[in-house]
Amino acid sequence: MYIRDTIAAVSTPPGNGGIGIIRVSGDQAAVVGNTVFTSVSDGGFVSHRFSFGTIRDAATGEKVDEAMAVLMRSPRSYTREDVLELHCHGGWLVVERVLALVLACGVRLADPGEFTRRAFLNGRIDLVQAEAVMDIIASKSEAALQLAQRQREGALSKRIDEVRGCLLKALALVEAYIDFPDDDIGSTDVASITASVESAQSMLSDLLVTFEEGRIIRDGISVLIVGKPNAGKSSLLNRLLNENRAIVTHIPGTTRDIIEETITFEGLAIRFLDTAGIRHTDDLVEQEGINRALEKVPLADLILAVFDGSRRFSQEDQMLMDALAGRKIIAVVNKSDLPQRFSLSDETRFLAVVPITALSGDGVDLLKLTICRQFHHSSATDSREFISLSRARHRDALVSAEGFLHQFSVGLVDRNLELLALDLRGALDSVGAVTGQTATDEVLDLIFSSFCIGK
Ligand code: GDP
Repeated sequence: MYIRDTIAAVSTPPGNGGIGIIRVSGDQAAVVGNTVFTSVSDGGFVSHRFSFGTIRDAATGEKVDEAMAVLMRSPRSYTREDVLELHCHGGWLVVERVLALVLACGVRLADPGEFTRRAFLNGRIDLVQAEAVMDIIASKSEAALQLAQRQREGALSKRIDEVRGCLLKALALVEAYIDFPDDDIGSTDVASITASVESAQSMLSDLLVTFEEGRIIRDGISVLIVGKPNAGKSSLLNRLLNENRAIVTHIPGTTRDIIEETITFEGLAIRFLDTAGIRHTDDLVEQEGINRALEKVPLADLILAVFDGSRRFSQEDQMLMDALAGRKIIAVVNKSDLPQRFSLSDETRFLAVVPITALSGDGVDLLKLTICRQFHHSSATDSREFISLSRARHRDALVSAEGFLHQFSVGLVDRNLELLALDLRGALDSVGAVTGQTATDEVLDLIFSSFCIGK
């Protein structure tokens, strides 16, 4: 539901900064501007033009700050409503006081993502583009940022609209025959319906295959570092991060909780999770750490199984291998500076075997490269034309559309027109949920509640 009241929020991050921006959107934006802000030049606001002046408490006349203010008249604004921005000094107290003055004019504090929600409800952007705005803010790597920018520019939305176009064409033909039940569908029309549905199906499957890669680009790769105590996991993490993040000692069992850090490499974000060494132990705290490590195993995109190259394959290594069954694993054989006693009985269980010396860093760059290669295969992803799914919400909606179209193709033999139309409408609804044509208030609440306040 869209109540057209006026909303306001601080749009810059919390804390102290150079400037702080208070954004106001709605019919009362200009009134708020004229109440709290006085320009040094005469005359009121000119749309889209900054003016310099003072912010005052209208009740007491007290000067609160010097500021720049801009009013963007509807519809040429982020929300397509009148939008006022007050750019004041960026101390948290100043910003809070200016916000309080704005709210005292009778406007409401905005909910998280409400400005962007209004941009969506007023038809300036669709839901994919609204989500892309959030992805731009949250981007952790170059590749993620590029992908989000392409989605914000509408590349994915355009492809979704093409799929909708094909489905609408097929539906129009099917419905034409529903209106004339005595006519049989002509063979040219059957061919035309089939062709439209097939091209929608092929676009859907082309999009769906991009999901894994798109998700990795957007969220990054989560890499779990596991191994027996003293194999060198913490030393490896420090080398991967190029800093002394994890405690390294010769005493086994020092890492008891999970340490999590992200780097970017080859344009991708890689999140490393260093875990407690896997072994039998009576120490309750250590055992809890081991449990936590094992819980993460099914959630990680990739596992680095770290082995001590200077020791023989042990029972503890075997314990580890059993816990990792069925996962994507790279074997990291550490301590290659020492005489090597380690050998793997079955190397085929691993995507790769990489020898390293965590102590000196030898082999660690090759390891990073090997990790990236497991995920970032197509050079197509670097091109401006690459269109990819990156959210499970989009994937699920398109999978549902595929299901309806499969049902449609099976039903085409019997040609029950009502049922065929129902399948096509089901597919259209599913596809429409991606861009927001058919999204419910609950879905919108869910999506926008994960935005930050002021966006
Ligand atoms: P973790 O328990 O698996 O996290 O292992 P640590 O990173 O704490 O390392 C255990 C011990 O092995 C420490 O004394 C490290 O200095 C040592 N170590 C780690 N990597 C290497 C390596 O590449 N070569 C040698 N010689 N020692 C290493």
